[in-house]
Amino acid sequence: MATLSQTKSRAVARSVEAGCIADCAECTTQIRYSAKLKPRQIIANVYENGKWQRVEHYHEECYLLANSPYGNTV
Ligand SMILES: [Zn+2]
Repeated sequence: MATLSQTKSRAVARSVEAGCIADCAECTTQIRYSAKLKPRQIIANVYENGKWQRVEHYHEECYLLANSPYGNTV
């Protein structure tokens, strides 16, 4: 019987920093810092078969539109 790994995909919400150069994994446009809007981004650590694969970035609204593919943010 295989043992289940503790490592699974998870996502956290963070404010977008000035100089952010990440592209959104959903809409593929850049996640832009704005001093006025103070947007938030979702940073997801993606695990497949218990192994870390990659980090994905999302606009917060895109992540919600995509139905929170890596679970609710905390
Ligand atoms: Zn987006």
